[in-house]
Amino acid sequence: MENKRTEISDLGEFGLIDRISQNFTSVNNETELGIGDDAAVLNSLGSRIIVTSDMLLEGVHFDLSFTPLQHLGYKAVAVNVSDVAAMNAIPKQITVNLGLSNRFSVEAVDEFYKGVKAACDNYKVDLIGGDTTSSMSGLVISVTAIGMVGQDKITKRSGAKEKDVICVTGDLGAAFIGLQILEREKQVFMANPDMQPQLDKYDYIVQRQLKPEARMGVVHELAELDIVPSSMIDISDGLASELLHLSRQSGMGMKIYEDKLPIDKQTYDTAVELGIDPTTAALNGGEDYELLFTVSMDDMEKLKKHADIHFIGYVQSSDKGNIMATKGGNEVEVTAQGWSHFKKP
Ligand code: ADP
Ligand code: MG
Repeated sequence: MENKRTEISDLGEFGLIDRISQNFTSVNNETELGIGDDAAVLNSLGSRIIVTSDMLLEGVHFDLSFTPLQHLGYKAVAVNVSDVAAMNAIPKQITVNLGLSNRFSVEAVDEFYKGVKAACDNYKVDLIGGDTTSSMSGLVISVTAIGMVGQDKITKRSGAKEKDVICVTGDLGAAFIGLQILEREKQVFMANPDMQPQLDKYDYIVQRQLKPEARMGVVHELAELDIVPSSMIDISDGLASELLHLSRQSGMGMKIYEDKLPIDKQTYDTAVELGIDPTTAALNGGEDYELLFTVSMDDMEKLKKHADIHFIGYVQSSDKGNIMATKGGNEVEVTAQGWSHFKKP
């Protein structure tokens, strides 16, 4: 398997699509017709329909020298599922569009779809179609996800109210610090190909970069607790940037506390090793795909026992601005770059 290389031209476009679709069967009632016709057919069963797309371009969003294709397939689905989760919706279907340069063999496409399949199984979504073309500029991936949600549960960026509690899932900054390690090891390897990358010590943060997870579990748990957040967004560009989106679209200010930001120990230690302030990584790192949301004080009580949801601050009136109380007892303005004296290099 490993040494075999089949040219895509040997199978042809239709052969390749058949090969891809063989491995996927639909599990959702809302999928009436999947791959194989001119278009798929969905049935929304009375729900609202959520649609979101993300593109991933080689050289812009990923580096194939340290990104296994299987992980890339998984990530391409996960980042879209994360956007559906951020609307408090359940993902049901995806389409996958690929631009392939002749560098890619059938076996490479197989690897990519292994990751897509793992994500489809994990998030219970159906692959219902896509498009396949040749590309002159490396690998191009575009995924569209479709989700469904009751009208009264849709969670936008715009609903945060004064005194609501700001919540964040999981931990922050890990994917960014993981990327710094991968890039460092790549430089070492290019300078001396006999040096094998030393990644054991960094397993968690590297995994967070290469194989992020969408927080669907939290969406289901919120539903079980009968909580509809007042606003929500997923953290793809960094906490600070997403907080400012909630602020602007809700017309409110945000107050957060540096000592409440959830940072994993491996992230913290590695950031220090690299000379990066861990708080900066948490605020500006990006690609964590955690959920940032606001809930009323009553709903906060119901979330107190949840080990993986952290209360980092509260919503305030817009004239008070977006402020972080630092560990040192100062107040600094939250900007998309964190704050002025911690600008990214
Ligand atoms: P058309 O010529 O009508 O665009 P295609 O031959 O491109 O049709 O596609 C045939 C079927 O295969 C369609 O259902 C399409 O959605 C699906 N398909 C094409 N490419 C992919 C892909 N990369 N992944 C999943 N499904 C695909
Ligand atoms: Mg087509």
